[in-house]
Amino acid sequence: MADESAVALRCIECSNVVPSLYQEYSPGNIKLTRCDRCHCYADEYVEHEMMVVWIDLVLHRERAYRHLLFNVPLQHRQNLKGYLWKSTIAILLLDSGKRWLHDHKATTIFDGPIWPTLSSFFRCFLTELVLGTLPYTAVILLLVHHWKLAPKRRWLDVLLAVHVSSFFKLFAIPMLIWRFERAMVVLLDFFVLTSNVTALKVLLETSYPCAGTLVICASLLHLPFNGVSWYASKS
Ligand SMILES: [Zn+2]
Repeated sequence: MADESAVALRCIECSNVVPSLYQEYSPGNIKLTRCDRCHCYADEYVEHEMMVVWIDLVLHRERAYRHLLFNVPLQHRQNLKGYLWKSTIAILLLDSGKRWLHDHKATTIFDGPIWPTLSSFFRCFLTELVLGTLPYTAVILLLVHHWKLAPKRRWLDVLLAVHVSSFFKLFAIPMLIWRFERAMVVLLDFFVLTSNVTALKVLLETSYPCAGTLVICASLLHLPFNGVSWYASKS
Protein backbone atom coordinates (compact mmCIF):
# COMPACT_ATOMS: atom_id res chain seq x y z
CA MET A 1 0.00 0.00 0.00
CA ALA A 2 1.47 3.33 -0.97
CA ASP A 3 1.87 5.96 1.73
CA GLU A 4 0.30 8.59 -0.50
CA SER A 5 -2.95 6.68 -1.01
CA ALA A 6 -3.03 5.55 2.63
CA VAL A 7 -4.14 9.00 3.78
CA ALA A 8 -6.49 9.78 0.88
CA LEU A 9 -10.26 9.67 0.54
CA ARG A 10 -11.49 6.49 -1.17
CA CYS A 11 -14.33 5.37 -3.38
CA ILE A 12 -16.23 2.88 -1.23
CA GLU A 13 -17.04 0.69 -4.26
CA CYS A 14 -13.58 0.15 -5.81
CA SER A 15 -11.18 1.76 -3.28
CA ASN A 16 -9.92 4.23 -5.90
CA VAL A 17 -8.46 7.46 -4.49
CA VAL A 18 -10.85 10.41 -4.97
CA PRO A 19 -10.17 14.13 -4.43
CA SER A 20 -13.39 14.73 -2.46
CA LEU A 21 -16.57 12.97 -1.42
CA TYR A 22 -18.95 15.80 -2.33
CA GLN A 23 -19.22 19.42 -3.40
CA GLU A 24 -21.20 21.72 -1.13
CA TYR A 25 -22.96 24.51 -3.02
CA SER A 26 -24.85 25.91 -0.01
CA PRO A 27 -25.63 24.66 3.53
CA GLY A 28 -27.48 21.32 3.14
CA ASN A 29 -27.12 21.40 -0.66
CA ILE A 30 -24.42 18.96 -1.73
CA LYS A 31 -23.58 17.00 -4.86
CA LEU A 32 -21.88 13.64 -4.41
CA THR A 33 -18.61 13.08 -6.28
CA ARG A 34 -18.45 10.25 -8.82
CA CYS A 35 -15.46 7.92 -8.95
CA ASP A 36 -13.33 8.20 -12.12
CA ARG A 37 -12.74 4.44 -12.22
CA CYS A 38 -16.12 2.80 -11.51
CA HIS A 39 -18.34 5.89 -12.09
CA CYS A 40 -20.35 5.16 -8.93
CA TYR A 41 -20.83 7.75 -6.18
CA ALA A 42 -17.57 7.85 -4.24
CA ASP A 43 -19.25 7.59 -0.83
CA GLU A 44 -23.02 7.74 -0.68
CA TYR A 45 -22.94 7.04 3.08
CA VAL A 46 -22.28 10.76 3.67
CA GLU A 47 -25.99 11.25 2.88
CA HIS A 48 -27.19 8.30 4.98
CA GLU A 49 -28.01 7.94 8.65
CA MET A 50 -25.43 6.17 10.83
CA MET A 51 -27.90 3.31 11.31
CA VAL A 52 -27.55 2.41 7.62
CA VAL A 53 -23.77 2.17 8.04
CA TRP A 54 -24.20 -0.03 11.13
CA ILE A 55 -26.55 -2.41 9.32
CA ASP A 56 -24.09 -2.76 6.43
CA LEU A 57 -21.24 -3.35 8.91
CA VAL A 58 -23.24 -6.15 10.52
CA LEU A 59 -23.77 -7.59 7.03
CA HIS A 60 -19.98 -7.43 6.48
CA ARG A 61 -20.29 -5.17 3.41
CA GLU A 62 -16.82 -3.99 2.41
CA ARG A 63 -18.13 -0.60 1.24
CA ALA A 64 -19.27 0.21 4.78
CA TYR A 65 -15.85 -0.70 6.17
CA ARG A 66 -14.15 1.50 3.52
CA HIS A 67 -16.36 4.42 4.55
CA LEU A 68 -15.58 3.91 8.24
CA LEU A 69 -11.85 3.12 7.92
CA PHE A 70 -10.77 5.53 5.15
CA ASN A 71 -13.18 8.42 4.82
CA VAL A 72 -14.45 8.99 8.37
CA PRO A 73 -11.01 9.03 10.11
CA LEU A 74 -9.60 11.39 7.48
CA GLN A 75 -12.28 13.94 8.30
CA HIS A 76 -11.82 13.52 12.09
CA ARG A 77 -8.11 12.72 12.26
CA GLN A 78 -7.47 14.79 15.37
CA ASN A 79 -9.77 12.58 17.46
CA LEU A 80 -8.26 9.24 16.40
CA LYS A 81 -5.99 8.68 19.41
CA GLY A 82 -8.71 9.73 21.85
CA TYR A 83 -11.17 7.37 20.17
CA LEU A 84 -8.66 4.51 20.33
CA TRP A 85 -8.14 4.98 24.09
CA LYS A 86 -11.88 5.06 24.73
CA SER A 87 -12.59 2.06 22.51
CA THR A 88 -9.76 0.07 24.16
CA ILE A 89 -11.24 0.68 27.61
CA ALA A 90 -14.76 -0.15 26.37
CA ILE A 91 -13.62 -3.41 24.76
CA LEU A 92 -11.68 -4.38 27.90
CA LEU A 93 -14.69 -3.68 30.13
CA LEU A 94 -16.98 -5.80 27.95
CA ASP A 95 -14.49 -8.67 27.77
CA SER A 96 -13.88 -8.41 31.52
CA GLY A 97 -17.59 -8.68 32.22
CA LYS A 98 -17.79 -11.80 30.10
CA ARG A 99 -14.69 -13.22 31.81
CA TRP A 100 -16.20 -12.47 35.23
CA LEU A 101 -19.34 -14.44 34.35
CA HIS A 102 -17.13 -17.29 33.18
CA ASP A 103 -14.89 -17.40 36.27
CA HIS A 104 -17.74 -17.11 38.76
CA LYS A 105 -20.19 -19.27 36.84
CA ALA A 106 -22.62 -16.39 37.35
CA THR A 107 -25.77 -15.68 35.40
CA THR A 108 -25.62 -11.87 35.49
CA ILE A 109 -23.07 -9.27 36.60
CA PHE A 110 -25.36 -8.42 39.56
CA ASP A 111 -24.94 -11.85 41.19
CA GLY A 112 -23.16 -11.71 44.58
CA PRO A 113 -22.16 -8.86 46.95
CA ILE A 114 -21.22 -5.63 45.20
CA TRP A 115 -17.70 -4.96 46.63
CA PRO A 116 -16.30 -8.51 46.17
CA THR A 117 -17.82 -8.35 42.72
CA LEU A 118 -16.00 -5.09 41.90
CA SER A 119 -12.61 -6.36 43.13
CA SER A 120 -12.91 -9.63 41.22
CA PHE A 121 -14.11 -7.67 38.18
CA PHE A 122 -10.90 -5.58 38.38
CA ARG A 123 -8.84 -8.79 38.45
CA CYS A 124 -10.68 -9.94 35.32
CA PHE A 125 -9.95 -6.55 33.72
CA LEU A 126 -6.19 -6.97 34.28
CA THR A 127 -6.30 -10.59 33.10
CA GLU A 128 -8.06 -9.62 29.89
CA LEU A 129 -5.61 -6.76 29.34
CA VAL A 130 -2.43 -8.83 29.82
CA LEU A 131 -3.54 -12.20 28.43
CA GLY A 132 -6.37 -11.32 26.07
CA THR A 133 -6.48 -7.93 24.33
CA LEU A 134 -2.77 -7.09 24.31
CA PRO A 135 -1.52 -10.39 22.79
CA TYR A 136 -4.34 -10.37 20.22
CA THR A 137 -3.59 -6.88 18.89
CA ALA A 138 0.19 -7.32 19.28
CA VAL A 139 0.23 -10.45 17.09
CA ILE A 140 -1.79 -8.69 14.38
CA LEU A 141 0.50 -5.63 14.44
CA LEU A 142 3.66 -7.76 14.40
CA LEU A 143 2.45 -9.88 11.47
CA VAL A 144 1.29 -6.80 9.52
CA HIS A 145 4.76 -5.32 10.03
CA HIS A 146 6.62 -8.58 9.32
CA TRP A 147 4.66 -9.31 6.14
CA LYS A 148 4.97 -5.64 5.08
CA LEU A 149 1.22 -5.29 4.65
CA ALA A 150 1.22 -1.64 5.73
CA PRO A 151 3.73 1.16 6.36
CA LYS A 152 5.02 1.22 9.95
CA ARG A 153 3.38 4.57 10.72
CA ARG A 154 -0.06 3.16 9.96
CA TRP A 155 -0.23 0.99 13.10
CA LEU A 156 -2.91 3.33 14.50
CA ASP A 157 -5.12 2.61 11.47
CA VAL A 158 -4.66 -1.14 11.98
CA LEU A 159 -5.69 -0.73 15.63
CA LEU A 160 -8.66 1.35 14.53
CA ALA A 161 -9.73 -1.38 12.09
CA VAL A 162 -9.59 -4.05 14.81
CA HIS A 163 -11.49 -1.90 17.31
CA VAL A 164 -14.16 -0.61 14.94
CA SER A 165 -14.82 -4.11 13.66
CA SER A 166 -15.19 -5.44 17.23
CA PHE A 167 -18.54 -3.65 17.57
CA PHE A 168 -20.28 -7.05 17.98
CA LYS A 169 -18.89 -7.01 21.52
CA LEU A 170 -21.51 -4.38 22.34
CA PHE A 171 -24.04 -7.19 22.29
CA ALA A 172 -22.31 -8.46 25.46
CA ILE A 173 -24.04 -5.64 27.41
CA PRO A 174 -27.45 -7.36 27.51
CA MET A 175 -25.65 -10.60 28.34
CA LEU A 176 -24.25 -9.00 31.51
CA ILE A 177 -27.71 -7.95 32.64
CA TRP A 178 -30.07 -10.69 31.52
CA ARG A 179 -29.73 -14.44 31.33
CA PHE A 180 -28.62 -15.71 27.94
CA GLU A 181 -28.00 -18.86 25.95
CA ARG A 182 -24.39 -20.09 26.14
CA ALA A 183 -24.22 -20.48 22.36
CA MET A 184 -24.61 -16.70 22.09
CA VAL A 185 -21.09 -16.22 23.54
CA VAL A 186 -19.57 -18.38 20.84
CA LEU A 187 -21.68 -16.74 18.14
CA LEU A 188 -20.68 -13.21 19.20
CA ASP A 189 -16.98 -14.11 19.31
CA PHE A 190 -17.28 -15.70 15.88
CA PHE A 191 -18.84 -12.53 14.40
CA VAL A 192 -16.16 -10.37 16.04
CA LEU A 193 -13.47 -12.46 14.31
CA THR A 194 -15.18 -12.46 10.89
CA SER A 195 -15.71 -8.71 11.20
CA ASN A 196 -12.01 -8.26 12.11
CA VAL A 197 -11.09 -10.23 8.96
CA THR A 198 -13.28 -8.03 6.75
CA ALA A 199 -11.91 -4.80 8.26
CA LEU A 200 -8.26 -5.89 7.89
CA LYS A 201 -8.91 -7.09 4.34
CA VAL A 202 -10.35 -3.69 3.42
CA LEU A 203 -7.76 -1.58 5.25
CA LEU A 204 -4.70 -3.51 4.08
CA GLU A 205 -6.16 -4.09 0.60
CA THR A 206 -5.21 -7.71 0.82
CA SER A 207 -7.06 -11.01 0.28
CA TYR A 208 -9.47 -12.76 2.63
CA PRO A 209 -7.04 -15.70 3.18
CA CYS A 210 -4.28 -13.25 4.19
CA ALA A 211 -6.54 -11.25 6.55
CA GLY A 212 -7.98 -14.51 7.86
CA THR A 213 -4.49 -15.83 8.62
CA LEU A 214 -3.73 -12.68 10.63
CA VAL A 215 -6.84 -13.13 12.75
CA ILE A 216 -6.42 -16.90 13.16
CA CYS A 217 -2.79 -16.50 14.34
CA ALA A 218 -3.84 -13.82 16.85
CA SER A 219 -6.83 -15.91 17.97
CA LEU A 220 -4.64 -18.90 18.79
CA LEU A 221 -3.06 -16.89 21.62
CA HIS A 222 -6.47 -15.53 22.55
CA LEU A 223 -8.07 -18.99 22.52
CA PRO A 224 -8.26 -19.58 26.30
CA PHE A 225 -10.19 -16.30 26.57
CA ASN A 226 -12.77 -16.62 23.85
CA GLY A 227 -16.27 -17.97 23.75
CA VAL A 228 -15.27 -21.53 22.79
CA SER A 229 -13.44 -22.08 26.09
CA TRP A 230 -16.31 -20.41 27.94
CA TYR A 231 -18.81 -22.70 26.31
CA ALA A 232 -16.67 -25.81 26.90
CA SER A 233 -16.17 -25.08 30.59
CA LYS A 234 -19.90 -24.45 31.17
CA SER A 235 -21.06 -27.54 29.35
ZN1 LIG B 1 -14.87 3.61 -7.70
